[in-house]
Amino acid sequence: MSEHSFQSVNLIPSLTSNLDGLGYLKMTPIQTQSLPLILAGDDVIGQAKTGSGKTAAFGLGILNKLDTKNFNVQSLVLCPTRELAEQVAEEIRALARAMQNIKVIVVCGGIPKKIQTASLENGVHIVVGTPGRVEEHLEVGTMKIDQLTTLVLDEADRMLDMGFQPSIDAIIEFAPSKRQNLLFSATYPKEIEAIAQRVMKQPKLIQVGSEEDQPSIQQFFYKVNDDVQRITATRLILQANRPDSSVIFCNTKKEVKEVAAELRRFGFSVLALHGDLDQIDRDQALIQFANKSTSILVATDVAGRGLDIEALDLVINYHTASDPETHVHRIGRTGRAGNDGMACSLFSEKESYKISRLGEHLGFKIEASKLPDLSLLKQPGYKAPMSTLQISGGKKNKIRPGDILGVLTNCKNISGDDVGKIKVAANWSYVAVSRKLVDTAFRKLSDEKIKGRKYRIKRIS
Ligand code: AMP
Repeated sequence: MSEHSFQSVNLIPSLTSNLDGLGYLKMTPIQTQSLPLILAGDDVIGQAKTGSGKTAAFGLGILNKLDTKNFNVQSLVLCPTRELAEQVAEEIRALARAMQNIKVIVVCGGIPKKIQTASLENGVHIVVGTPGRVEEHLEVGTMKIDQLTTLVLDEADRMLDMGFQPSIDAIIEFAPSKRQNLLFSATYPKEIEAIAQRVMKQPKLIQVGSEEDQPSIQQFFYKVNDDVQRITATRLILQANRPDSSVIFCNTKKEVKEVAAELRRFGFSVLALHGDLDQIDRDQALIQFANKSTSILVATDVAGRGLDIEALDLVINYHTASDPETHVHRIGRTGRAGNDGMACSLFSEKESYKISRLGEHLGFKIEASKLPDLSLLKQPGYKAPMSTLQISGGKKNKIRPGDILGVLTNCKNISGDDVGKIKVAANWSYVAVSRKLVDTAFRKLSDEKIKGRKYRIKRIS
């Protein structure tokens, strides 16, 4: 029997017998590695993307140990969006097809609470939901998880991005301390490590990585004659690649301001990051960049140091870095989280000595590449995919990300996938929405109450 066969793990017959019918003939890599641990009752962190088969990995684990006669919530799966919660519930129902009378319900914002309360009263085995609404049910007692045996955090990195951390913490307070915890996340930033440490017990980390998942950074070097050509070259590189997130490193503050102003003039969504910004402008710039409503950040090395961005698509060195270590540090910001990265460095004749020193450091001979075709300059600068709306209320008004998400998605026009990162600060909140829907989102947030109150809404990008 192959180690990839579902027969090689200890699943109950009603689960195994159904898998063929679903077309699941052998386990995917994340299933091969995590399922034996999940079935043994371990806490598991799975670093895996959508499409890896992670839902079946935790779904089978949940179903295998379910006490079908007990109609109290035994498993809770938390997801960042309603769409994902519905998909997960559907997959669990499909896996449970050959089992008798398994109740799986979705508890998310945007669906009337009354309907959910009635389903919860009738008894359920598994709840799949978004943190905000689950927390509300727990607080008023319409849902109980005192008999919970498994907690799953699905797409944990996205949940943290959307600001659900406080809700997740509050939910955990209602759960028994003896339980199995499973966490799945496409990326593994330090915030996930922190939540794992707080919530989980000696978790086993599974990273499904293959050779292709190793980040590789493609480096290109372009020779320019003067500063006019430098900005033209930058525009060409941007237009040819149209990255959602790129950083342009400059050697001085003055240059940062000039390059940002020039690119803005050509229609790009760009912000400058340098030491002259006050804290609020810096924070807002970073929020807009992280939530993809600004696609280009022009920064000095010092200002860029605090950048905590998961993965940049492109790094441009407007001038060659002063030393090879700085160059390596700059370009290391692209190609993270298993993505391929790209770094483009501009240099003039005067900088040639820095380039040959860099080549020695990198261990290859640097050759200048040909710039993209000049006809690309005819196109206007491209816009970032998202837009940011600022709300004049925050933590002090007890606003939570789920409240904002709830108002935005309580109609057919906007779905959870159209909403990006939500950041709730002390006095303000920021939500990223698809640029094409920003007017609709603006009207909804302006016309409707959030937590019983109306707020001023401002579009900031
Ligand atoms: P997920 O990563 O959970 O979003 O799953 C991706 C897709 O793979 C879903 O459509 C599943 O139905 C499917 N899938 C999960 N496990 C298997 C398997 N062992 N063999 C074939 N397909 C699978």
